Amino acid sequence: MIEELGQIVAEQQLSRQDLVRILSCGADQAPLLKEAANQVMRRHVGDLVYYRGIIEFSNICTMDCCYCGIRRSNVLDVPRYRLSREQITETAIWCADQGYGSVVLQSGERQDEEFIAFTESVIRTIKQRTVSDRLPAGLGITLGIGQQSPQTYERLYRAGAHRYLLRIETTDEELFGRIHPPAQTLSSRIACLQSLREIGYQVGTGVMIGIPGQTLEMLADDIAFFAEQDIDMIGMGPYIVHPDSAMAELGMMERGPLLQLSLNMIAAVRLALKDVNIAATTALQAIAPDGREQGLSYGANVTMPNLTPVEVRKGYQLYAGKPCLEESSQDCSTCLLRRIQSLGRDVGFDQWGDSPHAAAAGRIPGQQES
Ligand code: SAM
Repeated sequence: MIEELGQIVAEQQLSRQDLVRILSCGADQAPLLKEAANQVMRRHVGDLVYYRGIIEFSNICTMDCCYCGIRRSNVLDVPRYRLSREQITETAIWCADQGYGSVVLQSGERQDEEFIAFTESVIRTIKQRTVSDRLPAGLGITLGIGQQSPQTYERLYRAGAHRYLLRIETTDEELFGRIHPPAQTLSSRIACLQSLREIGYQVGTGVMIGIPGQTLEMLADDIAFFAEQDIDMIGMGPYIVHPDSAMAELGMMERGPLLQLSLNMIAAVRLALKDVNIAATTALQAIAPDGREQGLSYGANVTMPNLTPVEVRKGYQLYAGKPCLEESSQDCSTCLLRRIQSLGRDVGFDQWGDSPHAAAAGRIPGQQES
């Protein structure tokens, strides 16, 4: 078994069957898989870990994804919120002062002009106010505000955002249809990814792992989709049930096997795509206290400290058991650095940390007009 895995990971091009084999690895094969993923990571992206301070700036959402705790139809037991321009900007400045280099602005999805104009002006303000000797072009900004029109994507790119994260969630059309209302389609999400690419963003996508009804073959096909779409960065995480979501009664995988599958998926993506950035996401930490570090040890090279002000964090619970709801950004930062250093890795402070994949394709920032 171990020898067979050794042969598979040594191959340049992984077939669907190879990917399925990697995804089915158990804990006994973990050391070999980790070592292979780490070798590829060190060769293609280095072993620095890059921070993206994430600010979840509003939980108001017009979408109704069946899995999500902040979906439009959920009645939350905390208020719907939107952070003010000052709250977002001050948090971004704190992030730059800490040497994080990049910020992710994420929120529930709105397409109205007030929201888009607000987001646009916040991006411009952050860009202006975070320029320093350490960051001559200000913070790198990644956006995650869902499906928008090409015109909106263009506006926000011109304002200074240079990366965009839009998860495809699953590329299996039938499964996608089961976890979204009929108005939300797989094809419209693919069209958004293509539009982001045409505009010049570095494009990130990803899937939820362990969705009820998802197979290893589907996950292998998701990886093939990332390659076909020439994706620059990947953010994936375990599917974790939210008790008030429309999918609650379907349950979720047991935590142990779900963690292993999520880690295998990170390793499989690293082995298949090589030079992309891969995030060890917060949801990993929700199923194991050291989940993010484990993600880093399977080939991830990005992590996203949560900078959302503590007073609203409880309002952004996408799934049950989201970690660090009470800890301040400073506490999270100190704890995370210690955990990363315990892996023998360092943090790439004061850098945007764009993926070599994006750089090789000429998707280098700095070409936006301000
Ligand atoms: N609406 C924006 C979007 O779609 O990109 C940003 C916010 S959305 C809440 C961010 C991500 O949260 C989704 O892409 C989804 O993968 C993840 N998410 C939502 N509910 C989840 C759950 N129950 N378990 C794991 N991840 C979840």
